[in-house]
Amino acid sequence: MSASLALPMRGASAAEADVIIIGAGAAGLAAAHDLKAAGRRAIVLEARDRVGGRAFTDTSLGPAYDAGAMFIHWAERNPWVQIARDLGIATPGESWGGGFRVFADGRPMADADRQKRRGAFGQIDRRLETVDLTKRDLSVKDLLGDLGPDLAPIASSGLLLSIGEESDRISARDYQRLWSGDDLLVPSGYGHLVARHGAGLDIRLNQPASEIRWDGPGVAVTTPSGTLRANACIVTVPVGVLKAGAIRFTPELPARNRDALDGIGMGALTKIALKVEGDRFGITPGTSFLEAGSPSRLMNFDLFPEDKDLIVAYCGGDHARELSAAGPDAARDHLTELLTKMIGADIGKAITGISFPAWWTDPFSRGSYSVCLPGREAAREQLAEPIGGRLFIAGEATAGGGAMTVGGATLAGRAAAAAVARIKA
Ligand SMILES: Cc1cc2nc3c(=O)[nH]c(=O)nc-3n(C[C@H](O)[C@H](O)[C@H](O)COP(=O)(O)OP(=O)(O)OC[C@H]3O[C@@H](n4cnc5c(N)ncnc54)[C@H](O)[C@@H]3O)c2cc1C
Repeated sequence: MSASLALPMRGASAAEADVIIIGAGAAGLAAAHDLKAAGRRAIVLEARDRVGGRAFTDTSLGPAYDAGAMFIHWAERNPWVQIARDLGIATPGESWGGGFRVFADGRPMADADRQKRRGAFGQIDRRLETVDLTKRDLSVKDLLGDLGPDLAPIASSGLLLSIGEESDRISARDYQRLWSGDDLLVPSGYGHLVARHGAGLDIRLNQPASEIRWDGPGVAVTTPSGTLRANACIVTVPVGVLKAGAIRFTPELPARNRDALDGIGMGALTKIALKVEGDRFGITPGTSFLEAGSPSRLMNFDLFPEDKDLIVAYCGGDHARELSAAGPDAARDHLTELLTKMIGADIGKAITGISFPAWWTDPFSRGSYSVCLPGREAAREQLAEPIGGRLFIAGEATAGGGAMTVGGATLAGRAAAAAVARIKA
């Protein structure tokens, strides 16, 4: 990693950079690259001790897995296809390794119930095609309202694993405009790829910004190492971090940007990895098990992906929030209990470790990705409105149809850089 590490910074001083970028995730890196290419001096301040943000390849258990972003979505127009190609990194399509099995409370789900699930699943897309949302937005829950209390939770349960949020907190219009297309994988790690893309940039790690002053002619950003000044600032921290007030703005953000933040929540898509050694229990590597007995507590397991000694569990919504608050020991007990019912008691002995990067409780993300609340699908554009000609909020939340993705964050970072580059040097 050639990003510079926690360089000491002088105290308050004249402008040391043209632009300060807060956050070294995909958005921040994209903005920094474009500004550098435009001849502007950009400094990236990153709170963590690593580059990549919510794109993070976790190796703490030995075998690597992507604890955050994993798929290059809508590959046809995703800038990461080219970035990976330029770095010589392979991005194959997804292969459906070992198959997929659905369980209800640990037992294979009955055929009739599986059929009911299948019938319910297409309902969101079907209604998005037929219900007129042009006059008013609905929550996805209301969109499914007349499906009834039995089928509606099943129909929306898949959203827990895609959007990471409960259906009453998702704008149907925003959901409808999200881009779709082919998904590609990065076997060497999407997080590793994003981190490599940081090479050659002036990135200062372990530098959480605590205050951004924009009452002077430029901006002044407070960090543990002192205050840094610049002509403009691009803020790419997740909306969860902004909503939590972790960065003080002086003066406070304009009412329109604050109102936009009120219209966007953070989902809680969560991955928990278990290290499993010594036995594969007759399971073909790459098989997925879905525990779907309770639609609100859906849990997907990827077993031994790419033949690794790992089981990666996924969940979302309030169940994921509960597990995040409960912590790794409770999560391990819960997952062991579910797996024991599906595989047998010996699985407990084979589980030798857990890695639980809980994005929901992580102070530098406060959730998995942004979700527009019902009626608030315009909040993404509203949040990105430039502030005082020198403050720009970017990141996946401002990416319109590309929101919630690494590719969208990159496009949003590029858009912010273009706006900054239009300011007279
Ligand atoms: C579990 C999970 C699965 C996902 N799956 C996919 C997927 O398959 N495909 C996909 O495209 N996307 C996926 N995503 C979403 C994707 O990871 C994000 O949309 C994208 O990485 C966001 O990039 P960003 O630059 O906007 O924000 P981030 O990556 O969050 O970058 C913001 C940076 O700001 C830093 N920061 C926070 N506070 C401060 C502060 N005070 N001062 C300085 N720095 C600060 C953070 O540490 C972070 O590095 C997933 C996310 C999660 C959590």
